[in-house]
Amino acid sequence: MAVEERNPQIIPRSVSILGSTGSIGCNTLEIIQHHADIFTIEALTAYSNVERLVGQVKRFKPKLAVIGDHKKYQTLKEALSGTTTCVAAGREAIVEAASRPADWTMAAIVGAAGLEPTFAAIRRGKVVALANKECLVSAGNIMMEEVRAAGTTLLPVDSEHNAIFQVFDFESPESIEKIILTASGGPFRDMDRLVMAHVTPAQAVAHPNWNMGAKISVDSATLMNKGLELIEAHYLFGLGTAQIEILIHPQSVIHSMVAYVDGSVLAQLGAPDMRTPIAHVLGWPARISAPTTKLDFAKIGQLTFEPPDLNRFPAMRLASQALASGGGAPTILNAANEVAVQGFLSGAIGFLDIALVVEKTLDKLQGDSVGSLCDVRRVDLLSRCTAQGFVETA
Ligand code: NAD
Ligand code: MG
Repeated sequence: MAVEERNPQIIPRSVSILGSTGSIGCNTLEIIQHHADIFTIEALTAYSNVERLVGQVKRFKPKLAVIGDHKKYQTLKEALSGTTTCVAAGREAIVEAASRPADWTMAAIVGAAGLEPTFAAIRRGKVVALANKECLVSAGNIMMEEVRAAGTTLLPVDSEHNAIFQVFDFESPESIEKIILTASGGPFRDMDRLVMAHVTPAQAVAHPNWNMGAKISVDSATLMNKGLELIEAHYLFGLGTAQIEILIHPQSVIHSMVAYVDGSVLAQLGAPDMRTPIAHVLGWPARISAPTTKLDFAKIGQLTFEPPDLNRFPAMRLASQALASGGGAPTILNAANEVAVQGFLSGAIGFLDIALVVEKTLDKLQGDSVGSLCDVRRVDLLSRCTAQGFVETA
């Protein structure tokens, strides 16, 4: 039976994945593989993992494959000679890949490096599934304006925002009192700061509940991830900080909640597995199956909650302050954090220095405003240079 006859809402669609070799990219391809009758691949892009990209191309036969790193172009070209896939390299080629006529694009590049490709996908006016939260943090107002102007459907992939999207009454936003973003608390949830000062990159990327890329894993350990998600939620759902609560929920079963004025609270629950929100956005507005572990509530036993500790985890406070300051502050926060996380992963600074570098950069640069993508790039670059200076002198 043709897929449209089984479920009239599931229309075969072409998909592009920006950042296909990462954690989100691979999970997206895994769901697609389970629904080979629905999806065809337009373009896949990666930065440097050419071996993984070649494997994906051979399996999914996209029309175009792009590697960001020029040095890997020859390897890609040779490995794919004799296939029907076109190959290209470099930043501009990634933007071109994002501009191709896909019905649905997964924006899963990590960091502000995803800005131009994500904007290119948005300008096509189709469906963009957004995992790349740094884009929204860095260029929130401008990006949401592009979404409105192009008539694009923006679907949140981040598990918390995807959860809220599933239970948010967009027809009656006045009936919403607040949203509650849950956070696992990361690997150092109960750790004293004296001990935290000495944690290694390997400890920081070993998240207790989620299996993710290195950068977001460190962000989860500092709780900067929840700060970035606060800003992300502000732009996606049009709410101020007073209407966004953050709650530590170590089991990561409730992915977030919406509290209504009548006292009702609607939540989305699921195993801590990104394949669920990814399947949700791939199938949307219909639902498609995902090969995930299903929840067994009797086994889970209890769900617990506690407020976040902003003294032990200052990154979350910095993000909240940056959102309140507005202008270029979220752009500065994001860029400085990317540099600081890289500094930590490379062993140049300690874990607690991450938030310090971000704070010093914000203190030094605050005040700049951003009205265009060009402004964002300028502030982003300046913030990176400034933060790098603090990393080197830490
Ligand atoms: P990852 O590091 O595993 O993968 C990143 C992808 O981006 C790779 O394909 C890489 O090749 C590509 N990339 C990296 N630098 C690039 C550059 N300069 N130019 C072009 N491409 C580049 O990261 P991830 O964990 O998959 O996360 C991707 C995004 O999704 C991040 O913004 C993250 O915050 C968000 N996200 C991830 C998860 C998760 O479970 N992994 C959950 C929620 C949100
Ligand atoms: Mg999240």
